[in-house]
Amino acid sequence: MSTELENVIIIGSGPAGLTAGLYAARAELKPLLLTGNEIGGQISLTTDVENYPGFPEAITGPELIERMREQAEKFGCRIEYDYVTRVDFLRHPFIIETGNGRRYAAKAVIVATGATPRRLGVPGEQEFIGRGVSYCATCDGFFFRGKELVVVGGGDSALEEGLFLTRFATKVRIVHRRDQLRASQILQRRAFANDKIEFIWNSIVTAIHGDGGVRSVSLKNVKTGEESELKTDGVFIYIGHIPNTQLFVGQLEMDPDGYLIVDKRMRTNIPGVFAAGDVQDRYFRQVATAVGQGCAAAMEAEKFIAELEDRAYEGHKESVTPLEAG
Ligand code: NAP
Repeated sequence: MSTELENVIIIGSGPAGLTAGLYAARAELKPLLLTGNEIGGQISLTTDVENYPGFPEAITGPELIERMREQAEKFGCRIEYDYVTRVDFLRHPFIIETGNGRRYAAKAVIVATGATPRRLGVPGEQEFIGRGVSYCATCDGFFFRGKELVVVGGGDSALEEGLFLTRFATKVRIVHRRDQLRASQILQRRAFANDKIEFIWNSIVTAIHGDGGVRSVSLKNVKTGEESELKTDGVFIYIGHIPNTQLFVGQLEMDPDGYLIVDKRMRTNIPGVFAAGDVQDRYFRQVATAVGQGCAAAMEAEKFIAELEDRAYEGHKESVTPLEAG
């Protein structure tokens, strides 16, 4: 297998990765961006994005991603539809291997692999994925025209997607494990004002039942212990995320939940490896914050490479010590 040496490889194609690609391209680093299984990350599964500055009329997630991709490519970011299967960050240049059988060496790497929706982990969930259990209202909402739905969760995603589902469903029941929502006030107001939405408080889904498609869920009231069954045609689950960091275990420092640990300059514990977006951010997880982090990571990668090649401006110099020349 031949190894191609790259300046900077960006892993992931959500807003953080594409912004890193744009900045690294404009720094003339000819970055290579590996998309992962799909381009766009979680935002491409979202309907209207109303809080990304510059789009007062809102923009859909897929369209925003498409524009970011076009802008990054326009300045010379190369985008490969490929996914990473193994990395070696313990030597330098770093090694990255992919599902398409490529092997790359890179002077710097930006990890922007994002996060994946958390599963409930109850009986029936796995069985009915794609047949009534979904993590993406934008993708699957259309199939539930005239049906009744359950949404699980109490955060922004549960409310936003619950509201979206009222376009199709006759009833959307939001099951939340507490009696207070985590979601922002604006979404709470909209949800409370929508007469297709009903809340089931202090309750968890303990099982999902059906025959070919979802027919009902078992509920448990966590305050009273009371158990009940609720008829429904689908279950949309929005209970948070798990960072996509399996590839980096044993190489990059993570917190106990698997989020990468970076400093204010997006630097991981390995000099030359940076991280941006949801993979290292459990707090904000907005497109607006992810693009800022992607930008910062690319600027830092550029600086790292300049120092490595001894062409950094005097005033910008600091010691850069890759682990091991390889
Ligand atoms: P989140 O804010 O972490 O909320 C997850 C929700 O699921 C919480 O209500 C949590 O309950 C509940 N939950 C967690 N584990 C559970 C379990 N095992 N069983 C039942 N319920 C469970 O996640 P998110 O809503 O996906 O939002 C993620 C981030 O994206 C947030 O920062 C959010 O602001 C942002 N976001 C923003 C927008 C927007 O601004 N328009 C839209 C979507 C997402 P507790 O409340 O009891 O912990």
